[in-house]
Amino acid sequence: MSHRLLPGLTRITVAAVFAIALATAPPDPALAFTGGNHEDITRAALPWEPATLSAMADARDGAVNANDRGGYFALGPLHCDNADYLAPRYVRDYPRSRDEATTELLACIRTSVARFRNAVRAADGLVDADGKVRADQSDLSSPCTWTETPDRAKCAVLEQLGRGWHQIEDFYSHSNWTDRAAPGPVGLTDPPGLARTDVAPFLDIRRYSAMNDAAWTRDARAHMPADLTTGCYSDFDSTGVKAEGCAGRVTHNRGLNKDTSASHRSRTGDNFGHAVSGATAEITRQWNDFKAELLTTYPDHRRGEQMICALVHDAPESSCP
Ligand SMILES: [Zn+2]
Repeated sequence: MSHRLLPGLTRITVAAVFAIALATAPPDPALAFTGGNHEDITRAALPWEPATLSAMADARDGAVNANDRGGYFALGPLHCDNADYLAPRYVRDYPRSRDEATTELLACIRTSVARFRNAVRAADGLVDADGKVRADQSDLSSPCTWTETPDRAKCAVLEQLGRGWHQIEDFYSHSNWTDRAAPGPVGLTDPPGLARTDVAPFLDIRRYSAMNDAAWTRDARAHMPADLTTGCYSDFDSTGVKAEGCAGRVTHNRGLNKDTSASHRSRTGDNFGHAVSGATAEITRQWNDFKAELLTTYPDHRRGEQMICALVHDAPESSCP
Protein backbone atom coordinates (compact mmCIF):
# COMPACT_ATOMS: atom_id res chain seq x y z
CA MET A 1 0.00 0.00 0.00
CA SER A 2 2.82 2.42 0.64
CA HIS A 3 5.66 1.26 -1.52
CA ARG A 4 5.77 4.76 -2.90
CA LEU A 5 6.55 6.58 0.30
CA LEU A 6 7.08 10.25 -0.18
CA PRO A 7 10.42 11.97 0.29
CA GLY A 8 10.86 12.59 3.98
CA LEU A 9 8.85 9.56 4.99
CA THR A 10 11.37 7.04 3.84
CA ARG A 11 12.59 6.25 7.34
CA ILE A 12 9.24 4.75 8.16
CA THR A 13 9.64 1.24 6.89
CA VAL A 14 7.12 -0.25 4.55
CA ALA A 15 6.62 -3.04 7.08
CA ALA A 16 5.80 -0.59 9.82
CA VAL A 17 3.32 1.24 7.66
CA PHE A 18 1.73 -2.03 6.66
CA ALA A 19 1.41 -3.08 10.30
CA ILE A 20 -0.22 0.23 11.10
CA ALA A 21 -2.64 -0.16 8.25
CA LEU A 22 -3.72 -3.57 9.52
CA ALA A 23 -4.12 -2.26 13.05
CA THR A 24 -6.04 0.85 12.11
CA ALA A 25 -9.59 0.84 13.34
CA PRO A 26 -12.14 2.95 11.49
CA PRO A 27 -10.62 6.45 11.35
CA ASP A 28 -10.80 8.39 14.58
CA PRO A 29 -12.81 11.46 13.65
CA ALA A 30 -10.60 13.47 15.99
CA LEU A 31 -7.61 13.14 13.68
CA ALA A 32 -8.72 15.68 11.16
CA PHE A 33 -11.50 17.84 10.01
CA THR A 34 -14.15 15.12 9.77
CA GLY A 35 -14.67 13.71 6.29
CA GLY A 36 -17.84 15.79 6.17
CA ASN A 37 -15.92 18.97 6.90
CA HIS A 38 -13.27 18.14 4.30
CA GLU A 39 -16.18 17.62 1.89
CA ASP A 40 -17.85 20.94 2.70
CA ILE A 41 -14.60 22.87 2.36
CA THR A 42 -13.65 21.19 -0.90
CA ARG A 43 -17.08 21.68 -2.44
CA ALA A 44 -17.14 25.34 -1.47
CA ALA A 45 -13.70 25.92 -2.97
CA LEU A 46 -14.07 24.26 -6.39
CA PRO A 47 -16.37 25.30 -9.26
CA TRP A 48 -16.48 21.80 -10.75
CA GLU A 49 -19.31 19.75 -12.25
CA PRO A 50 -21.14 17.43 -9.83
CA ALA A 51 -19.73 13.94 -10.51
CA THR A 52 -16.15 15.19 -10.69
CA LEU A 53 -16.62 17.28 -7.56
CA SER A 54 -18.01 14.27 -5.68
CA ALA A 55 -15.03 12.16 -6.77
CA MET A 56 -12.76 14.73 -5.17
CA ALA A 57 -14.79 15.80 -2.15
CA ASP A 58 -16.99 12.94 -0.91
CA ALA A 59 -16.79 12.55 2.87
CA ARG A 60 -15.94 8.84 2.61
CA ASP A 61 -14.76 8.08 -0.89
CA GLY A 62 -13.35 11.39 -2.14
CA ALA A 63 -9.71 11.81 -3.13
CA VAL A 64 -9.33 14.60 -0.58
CA ASN A 65 -10.12 12.10 2.19
CA ALA A 66 -7.79 9.35 0.95
CA ASN A 67 -5.04 10.38 3.38
CA ASP A 68 -7.35 9.53 6.28
CA ARG A 69 -7.61 5.91 5.08
CA GLY A 70 -5.36 2.91 5.69
CA GLY A 71 -1.70 3.39 6.55
CA TYR A 72 -1.69 7.02 5.46
CA PHE A 73 -3.82 7.81 8.50
CA ALA A 74 -0.93 7.28 10.92
CA LEU A 75 1.64 9.40 9.11
CA GLY A 76 1.80 12.78 10.84
CA PRO A 77 3.15 14.79 7.87
CA LEU A 78 0.03 13.85 5.89
CA HIS A 79 -2.02 15.81 8.45
CA CYS A 80 0.44 18.57 9.43
CA ASP A 81 0.66 17.11 12.95
CA ASN A 82 3.53 17.36 15.48
CA ALA A 83 4.73 20.85 14.54
CA ASP A 84 4.09 21.92 18.12
CA TYR A 85 6.04 24.60 19.91
CA LEU A 86 5.56 27.11 22.72
CA ALA A 87 8.12 29.86 23.33
CA PRO A 88 9.88 30.16 26.72
CA ARG A 89 7.81 33.20 27.66
CA TYR A 90 4.80 30.86 27.78
CA VAL A 91 6.29 27.58 29.00
CA ARG A 92 9.77 27.02 30.37
CA ASP A 93 11.69 24.12 28.83
CA TYR A 94 9.13 23.13 26.22
CA PRO A 95 10.17 19.61 25.13
CA ARG A 96 10.45 20.52 21.45
CA SER A 97 12.48 23.26 19.78
CA ARG A 98 11.19 25.81 17.30
CA ASP A 99 13.39 24.13 14.74
CA GLU A 100 11.89 20.67 15.33
CA ALA A 101 8.41 22.12 14.95
CA THR A 102 9.40 23.88 11.74
CA THR A 103 10.95 20.67 10.39
CA GLU A 104 7.66 18.81 10.88
CA LEU A 105 5.68 21.52 9.14
CA LEU A 106 8.17 21.54 6.26
CA ALA A 107 7.74 17.77 5.99
CA CYS A 108 4.01 18.32 5.65
CA ILE A 109 4.45 20.98 2.97
CA ARG A 110 6.94 18.73 1.16
CA THR A 111 4.25 16.06 0.70
CA SER A 112 2.03 18.64 -1.02
CA VAL A 113 4.86 19.86 -3.24
CA ALA A 114 5.52 16.28 -4.36
CA ARG A 115 1.82 15.70 -5.05
CA PHE A 116 1.57 18.93 -7.05
CA ARG A 117 4.45 17.89 -9.30
CA ASN A 118 2.88 14.44 -9.75
CA ALA A 119 -0.48 15.99 -10.66
CA VAL A 120 1.08 18.24 -13.31
CA ARG A 121 2.78 15.20 -14.85
CA ALA A 122 -0.36 13.07 -14.73
CA ALA A 123 -2.39 15.77 -16.49
CA ASP A 124 -0.33 15.17 -19.65
CA GLY A 125 -2.38 12.00 -20.21
CA LEU A 126 -5.71 13.86 -20.36
CA VAL A 127 -5.16 15.40 -23.78
CA ASP A 128 -3.46 14.17 -26.94
CA ALA A 129 -0.61 15.94 -28.76
CA ASP A 130 -3.07 17.96 -30.88
CA GLY A 131 -5.02 19.26 -27.92
CA LYS A 132 -7.92 16.82 -28.14
CA VAL A 133 -9.32 15.43 -24.90
CA ARG A 134 -8.78 11.69 -24.57
CA ALA A 135 -12.27 10.43 -23.75
CA ASP A 136 -11.14 7.15 -22.19
CA GLN A 137 -8.68 8.96 -19.91
CA SER A 138 -11.29 11.36 -18.54
CA ASP A 139 -14.15 8.90 -18.09
CA LEU A 140 -15.44 8.64 -14.52
CA SER A 141 -18.37 6.30 -15.18
CA SER A 142 -16.70 3.76 -12.91
CA PRO A 143 -15.21 5.12 -9.67
CA CYS A 144 -11.52 5.93 -9.22
CA THR A 145 -9.89 3.87 -6.46
CA TRP A 146 -7.17 6.15 -4.98
CA THR A 147 -4.72 3.29 -4.59
CA GLU A 148 -1.74 4.96 -6.28
CA THR A 149 -1.91 2.38 -9.04
CA PRO A 150 -2.13 3.13 -12.77
CA ASP A 151 -5.59 4.37 -13.66
CA ARG A 152 -7.27 6.83 -16.03
CA ALA A 153 -5.36 10.13 -16.21
CA LYS A 154 -8.24 12.02 -14.63
CA CYS A 155 -8.25 9.63 -11.65
CA ALA A 156 -4.49 10.08 -11.31
CA VAL A 157 -4.71 13.88 -11.34
CA LEU A 158 -7.59 13.92 -8.85
CA GLU A 159 -5.77 11.49 -6.57
CA GLN A 160 -2.54 13.51 -6.60
CA LEU A 161 -4.39 16.78 -6.01
CA GLY A 162 -6.57 15.28 -3.27
CA ARG A 163 -3.64 13.68 -1.48
CA GLY A 164 -1.81 17.01 -1.64
CA TRP A 165 -4.74 19.17 -0.54
CA HIS A 166 -5.87 17.06 2.44
CA GLN A 167 -2.99 18.13 4.68
CA ILE A 168 -3.37 21.74 3.54
CA GLU A 169 -6.98 21.70 4.75
CA ASP A 170 -5.85 19.94 7.92
CA PHE A 171 -3.30 22.70 8.55
CA TYR A 172 -6.09 25.21 9.14
CA SER A 173 -7.84 22.87 11.58
CA HIS A 174 -4.69 21.63 13.31
CA SER A 175 -2.73 24.88 13.68
CA ASN A 176 -3.23 28.21 15.44
CA TRP A 177 -2.95 30.17 12.15
CA THR A 178 -6.54 31.49 12.06
CA ASP A 179 -7.29 31.11 15.80
CA ARG A 180 -8.09 33.59 18.48
CA ALA A 181 -6.53 32.55 21.79
CA ALA A 182 -8.77 31.56 24.66
CA PRO A 183 -9.29 34.21 27.31
CA GLY A 184 -6.91 33.57 30.19
CA PRO A 185 -3.28 32.51 30.33
CA VAL A 186 -1.51 30.91 27.38
CA GLY A 187 -0.49 27.33 28.09
CA LEU A 188 -0.41 23.79 26.73
CA THR A 189 -4.17 23.53 26.27
CA ASP A 190 -4.53 27.17 25.24
CA PRO A 191 -1.69 28.13 22.89
CA PRO A 192 -1.50 31.61 21.36
CA GLY A 193 -3.71 32.43 18.39
CA LEU A 194 -2.26 34.14 15.33
CA ALA A 195 -5.64 35.45 14.06
CA ARG A 196 -4.42 35.40 10.47
CA THR A 197 -6.95 35.93 7.68
CA ASP A 198 -4.60 35.44 4.70
CA VAL A 199 -3.68 32.18 3.02
CA ALA A 200 -0.45 30.91 4.55
CA PRO A 201 2.56 32.26 2.60
CA PHE A 202 4.50 29.05 3.32
CA LEU A 203 1.85 27.00 1.48
CA ASP A 204 2.85 28.52 -1.87
CA ILE A 205 2.95 25.04 -3.37
CA ARG A 206 3.06 26.01 -7.03
CA ARG A 207 6.01 28.36 -6.58
CA TYR A 208 7.80 25.83 -4.38
CA SER A 209 7.26 23.07 -6.94
CA ALA A 210 9.62 24.92 -9.29
CA MET A 211 12.34 25.35 -6.64
CA ASN A 212 14.81 22.91 -5.15
CA ASP A 213 14.30 21.65 -1.61
CA ALA A 214 16.90 23.90 0.00
CA ALA A 215 15.51 27.01 -1.70
CA TRP A 216 11.82 26.53 -0.95
CA THR A 217 12.37 25.36 2.61
CA ARG A 218 14.44 28.50 3.25
CA ASP A 219 11.58 30.60 1.89
CA ALA A 220 8.96 28.71 3.92
CA ARG A 221 10.96 28.95 7.16
CA ALA A 222 11.29 32.69 6.73
CA HIS A 223 7.50 33.01 6.54
CA MET A 224 6.69 30.97 9.65
CA PRO A 225 5.88 33.11 12.71
CA ALA A 226 7.73 32.13 15.91
CA ASP A 227 4.43 31.38 17.67
CA LEU A 228 3.06 29.16 14.91
CA THR A 229 2.14 25.72 16.26
CA THR A 230 0.18 22.60 15.38
CA GLY A 231 -0.55 19.79 17.84
CA CYS A 232 1.23 16.64 18.90
CA TYR A 233 -0.66 13.51 17.86
CA SER A 234 0.29 9.92 18.56
CA ASP A 235 1.15 9.17 14.95
CA PHE A 236 4.53 8.93 13.23
CA ASP A 237 6.46 12.15 12.73
CA SER A 238 8.81 12.82 9.82
CA THR A 239 11.67 11.04 11.59
CA GLY A 240 9.60 7.88 12.10
CA VAL A 241 9.12 8.51 15.83
CA LYS A 242 5.71 7.97 17.38
CA ALA A 243 4.91 10.33 20.26
CA GLU A 244 3.08 8.24 22.84
CA GLY A 245 0.92 10.38 25.07
CA CYS A 246 2.41 13.73 23.97
CA ALA A 247 3.31 14.55 27.61
CA GLY A 248 4.13 18.20 28.21
CA ARG A 249 3.28 19.20 24.66
CA VAL A 250 0.54 21.14 22.90
CA THR A 251 -1.70 18.38 21.65
CA HIS A 252 -4.11 17.86 18.83
CA ASN A 253 -6.82 16.33 21.00
CA ARG A 254 -6.87 18.53 24.10
CA GLY A 255 -5.40 21.65 22.54
CA LEU A 256 -5.58 22.84 19.00
CA ASN A 257 -7.86 20.87 16.75
CA LYS A 258 -10.91 22.44 15.22
CA ASP A 259 -11.94 19.18 13.55
CA THR A 260 -15.48 19.72 14.77
CA SER A 261 -17.30 22.81 15.99
CA ALA A 262 -17.48 21.20 19.45
CA SER A 263 -13.73 20.84 20.14
CA HIS A 264 -12.03 22.74 22.97
CA ARG A 265 -10.35 25.18 20.60
CA SER A 266 -13.46 25.66 18.44
CA ARG A 267 -15.30 26.93 21.49
CA THR A 268 -13.29 30.16 21.62
CA GLY A 269 -15.02 32.78 19.49
CA ASP A 270 -15.61 31.56 15.96
CA ASN A 271 -12.40 29.56 15.72
CA PHE A 272 -14.13 26.74 13.86
CA GLY A 273 -15.57 29.15 11.28
CA HIS A 274 -12.21 30.86 10.84
CA ALA A 275 -10.50 27.51 10.20
CA VAL A 276 -13.14 26.51 7.64
CA SER A 277 -12.97 29.81 5.77
CA GLY A 278 -9.17 29.77 5.83
CA ALA A 279 -9.08 26.25 4.39
CA THR A 280 -11.68 27.09 1.76
CA ALA A 281 -9.81 30.18 0.54
CA GLU A 282 -6.62 28.12 0.53
CA ILE A 283 -8.04 25.34 -1.68
CA THR A 284 -9.38 27.95 -4.09
CA ARG A 285 -5.85 29.37 -4.26
CA GLN A 286 -4.36 25.90 -4.75
CA TRP A 287 -6.75 25.09 -7.61
CA ASN A 288 -6.13 28.43 -9.32
CA ASP A 289 -2.38 27.87 -9.00
CA PHE A 290 -2.67 24.37 -10.44
CA LYS A 291 -4.61 25.70 -13.44
CA ALA A 292 -1.99 28.39 -13.98
CA GLU A 293 0.75 25.76 -13.89
CA LEU A 294 -1.02 23.60 -16.51
CA LEU A 295 -1.33 26.63 -18.84
CA THR A 296 2.37 27.40 -18.39
CA THR A 297 3.61 23.82 -18.68
CA TYR A 298 1.43 22.79 -21.63
CA PRO A 299 1.01 25.84 -23.91
CA ASP A 300 1.06 24.06 -27.30
CA HIS A 301 -2.25 23.40 -29.08
CA ARG A 302 -4.10 24.82 -26.08
CA ARG A 303 -3.32 21.56 -24.29
CA GLY A 304 -3.27 23.16 -20.82
CA GLU A 305 -6.68 24.76 -21.40
CA GLN A 306 -8.08 21.44 -22.57
CA MET A 307 -6.66 19.66 -19.51
CA ILE A 308 -8.46 22.11 -17.25
CA CYS A 309 -11.64 21.65 -19.27
CA ALA A 310 -11.35 17.85 -18.95
CA LEU A 311 -10.79 18.12 -15.21
CA VAL A 312 -13.78 20.31 -14.34
CA HIS A 313 -16.38 18.77 -16.65
CA ASP A 314 -18.20 15.49 -16.12
CA ALA A 315 -18.48 14.81 -19.87
CA PRO A 316 -15.36 16.37 -21.39
CA GLU A 317 -15.84 14.73 -24.76
CA SER A 318 -18.86 16.91 -25.41
CA SER A 319 -17.92 19.88 -23.19
CA CYS A 320 -14.37 20.33 -24.51
CA PRO A 321 -14.44 20.09 -28.33
ZN1 LIG B 1 -6.03 14.38 8.02
